Amino acid sequence: MTEVTKTLCPYCGVGCGLEVSPPAQPGKATHRDGQGNPIWRVRGDKAHPSSQGMVCVKGATIAESLDKNRLHYPMVRDSLDQKFRRVSWDEAFDLITKRIQAVRFTQGPEAICMYGSGQFQTEDYYIAQKLLKGCLGSNNFDANSRLCMSSAVAGYIQSFGADGPPCCYEDLELTDCAFLIGTNTAECHPIVFNRLEKYHKRNRKVKMIVVDPRRTPTAEAADLHLAIRPGTDIDLLNGIAHLLMRWNYIDVGFIDDCTSNFPAYAEVICHYSPEIVADRCGIDIKDLETAARYWGESQRVLSLWSMGVNQSSEGTAKVRTIINLHLMTGQIGKPGAGPFSLTGQPNAMGGREAGGLAHLLPGYRLVKNPQHRAEVEEFWGLKRGQISPNPGLTAWDMITGLEDGTVGLLWIAATNPAVSMPDLERTKAALMRSPFTIYQDAYYPTETATYAHVLLPAAQWSEKTGVMTNSERTVTLCPAFRRPPGEAKADWEIFAEVGRRLGFVGEFAFANSAEVYAEFVKLTRDRPCDMTGLSHEQLRSQGPTQWPHPAEEMGRTGDGEINFTPPPHHKSPNTQSSKRLYTNLRFHTPDGRARFGAYHSRGLAEPPDPDYPFVLTTGRLYGHWHTLTRTGRIEKTRQMHPEPFIEIHPRDAARLEITDNQLVEVRSRRSKTFFPAKITKAIAPGTVFVPMHWGALWADNAEANALTHPESCPDSLQPELKACAVQLIPV
Ligand code: SF4
Repeated sequence: MTEVTKTLCPYCGVGCGLEVSPPAQPGKATHRDGQGNPIWRVRGDKAHPSSQGMVCVKGATIAESLDKNRLHYPMVRDSLDQKFRRVSWDEAFDLITKRIQAVRFTQGPEAICMYGSGQFQTEDYYIAQKLLKGCLGSNNFDANSRLCMSSAVAGYIQSFGADGPPCCYEDLELTDCAFLIGTNTAECHPIVFNRLEKYHKRNRKVKMIVVDPRRTPTAEAADLHLAIRPGTDIDLLNGIAHLLMRWNYIDVGFIDDCTSNFPAYAEVICHYSPEIVADRCGIDIKDLETAARYWGESQRVLSLWSMGVNQSSEGTAKVRTIINLHLMTGQIGKPGAGPFSLTGQPNAMGGREAGGLAHLLPGYRLVKNPQHRAEVEEFWGLKRGQISPNPGLTAWDMITGLEDGTVGLLWIAATNPAVSMPDLERTKAALMRSPFTIYQDAYYPTETATYAHVLLPAAQWSEKTGVMTNSERTVTLCPAFRRPPGEAKADWEIFAEVGRRLGFVGEFAFANSAEVYAEFVKLTRDRPCDMTGLSHEQLRSQGPTQWPHPAEEMGRTGDGEINFTPPPHHKSPNTQSSKRLYTNLRFHTPDGRARFGAYHSRGLAEPPDPDYPFVLTTGRLYGHWHTLTRTGRIEKTRQMHPEPFIEIHPRDAARLEITDNQLVEVRSRRSKTFFPAKITKAIAPGTVFVPMHWGALWADNAEANALTHPESCPDSLQPELKACAVQLIPV
């Protein structure tokens, strides 16, 4: 077989197009990995509009992970101290349905939880919502997106009345000023950064501002790096707004015509004089002024952010404060401008579309909205009131629910919370107490498998057909091109079979994932993420397509439609100009106006103090993905980053008499870990950095999240994984 399959990289939210072909091809040597095993050939898809043929090291080496450490068969055990025994799918399904029924009738449906993943395809997400929120009446579906970008979701909804980034990658190459805050784009979203950096190098008048306590590769490329103290983002943003107002760089017409609540915001920012802000943020006034001047003098400003903003106890306020800057300067709804949240997981956006968080329903609907519930109930053929009006348990709520016994059944799929959750000792202790945990994953062993009663083998990317949506709303079909190993099944097939065995036969009578997708898109009709014009067939024949894509028309680019810039392939003459594309912008709020959010800075949930004098910040490395289930087993990426470390500024290292590579004990109020020191000026004095990838399978006592805490944003309920207070002790 020489056929090339066009698909999407299953790592990050950039969503690069890939072309995959079999290891053996006539007239060519068989493609092999470092150990001599035949592997599929992977290259960038030049026709994919998001990535234009580019891939980073993770995408280029993905094929090497496909056959390593796979889970082949269902396995069960009665208690966590026993060994797993292999069972048939029939036995596994029987056990699971009996346990679900038992918990449903003894504790109620709200004791049943599922913790899913942005690695799901949209079909997996959709069937999980229908099973949990619809048929079982439990809104307890949350995903690892809660730890990644739920603050962006909350910020967009509160400011614009609906979720959905109003920008696309084409804006990277149309902007006059890129404002990157809380994002190490060069390492975490490499192909987005490649596009931006190339454009920036070609156009020296274009400014790039990077806000980050670390001097990352992203900051190295910037015209201006603002190394603010952790937790002072809102001070900085309000300080920039203060200067824009003082220097009269605001767009009064836009504020009057298209926004509400500006007076409350103006009252807040008047308290953020440059002197106060520079002092709080630990930066020069001149640099603050330069940032404000770049904003004010640019025709088109594009903000980019990711986990550094979202993973915060005031994450939603930070997102809204970024959006405020765009609203006050009219930097939205025109090419090259807007507030652009970069998602972490490859299909976090698809999860948002399908309702894959505990407060959402499919089609950008909200659990709390009675009309939204009624629409979904009617569509699913449920009786009125079947969907609970209460948002379900979030990721961290599930942990506390295990602690207090209110969670009777936990189903984890395609994610590894025993590495990625905050306060890992507490998380693991709670998982130990779980009465019944189903763990459905492609890989085995993983850290989370240690806490499972049932293991279900999942087919992964390359072995099942479904769609994923990347950060810029481009939907790509990812066809199966190889057989799943052993008895592995697609996630949606597993959920659907459980649904049928619970008696919902008609609800889950899908012959294939195309039918699942066809049903899902009907639920997006007339919603902001309208995809009724999409199907597997259409995506296969026309290629990746950006939404909105309603059945009746190809996108909506007329007056009054916001909050999305037009897809690249819907280019209009306006796209190349700096003129506002839309006049009379209407947002998805009841009055059609975008709302200013007025926030004072609250700072870190756990600031440093004399006992724990350093701020620990965590993050990702270029070659690794999340908890190493794939990249930890690929020679090239493992060699790039063989072990965890802690970055310490030379001044702090000298004071504590720590030398390069020396082992350092790092203590927080929750636990202690050990890392070799990497002494570098890339990190600011008083702050230390640890990568988050390594779990207990890979390194002893070197889990970054053993140190972090679960304090969360009150609106998005996203934990502050980015910062906690620690002390350092040289070993
Ligand atoms: Fe994959 Fe992200 Fe790298 Fe693109 S940038 S190849 S999507 S990991």
